[in-house]
Amino acid sequence: MPQRRRVGVLGGTFDPIHIGHLVAASEVRVQLRLDTILLVVAGEPWQKTGIRRITPAADRLALVEVAVDGFDGLEASSLEIERGGPTYTADTLAALEGDDLFLVVGADVASLLDTWARPEDVRARATLVVVDRPGSTFDPSALTLDGWRVERVDIPRLEVSSSDLRARVADGRPIDFLVPDPVVREIEKRGLYARSR
Ligand code: ATP
Ligand code: MG
Repeated sequence: MPQRRRVGVLGGTFDPIHIGHLVAASEVRVQLRLDTILLVVAGEPWQKTGIRRITPAADRLALVEVAVDGFDGLEASSLEIERGGPTYTADTLAALEGDDLFLVVGADVASLLDTWARPEDVRARATLVVVDRPGSTFDPSALTLDGWRVERVDIPRLEVSSSDLRARVADGRPIDFLVPDPVVREIEKRGLYARSR
């Protein structure tokens, strides 16, 4: 029987992808000896739509693709975009059945897991991997009591967010070194995040 692959799943809106996502992914991959980490771009992030305008999925996916291009072990995934409809992590994990799955989330997201759709499905299908994020604390005890398999991975703390990056572009402030260079160029090329006149 072929060996089961150890696959990380880092879901996000990635609007845009930044070094916080990438450093977390690369650190988790090495520390947990994963074969690969999928950066799964949310098609319709239902917890965010209606609150703000989300950049078209094709643009967000393109930014993730150029960010990981040529880098072994990190892959852009369009699984949720292709599935269409609102993004549910439970469905994504089901689609990846057969591999050993590790769902990577920042501390801000980990504390909101009970607001997700079908959390017990997510719990059954993957080990939860929590990485720290400046400004958020996370206490794993409640989750482990609930039967979640939880791993914590210590990563360099990077206080960078997509929200701040969008505001920076809109204000004409720099995003250099907060996102990889090819992403800076792709944002410019596509005219993303500029304030509409
Ligand atoms: P936004 O400000 O639009 O919410 P974001 O920077 O939080 O964007 P998301 O796409 O919402 O990015 O995040 C995807 C995943 O990456 C989440 O699990 C989130 O916790 C994690 N993440 C985002 N930024 C960081 C960071 N700087 N350090 C660690 N984890 C992060
Ligand atoms: Mg976020």
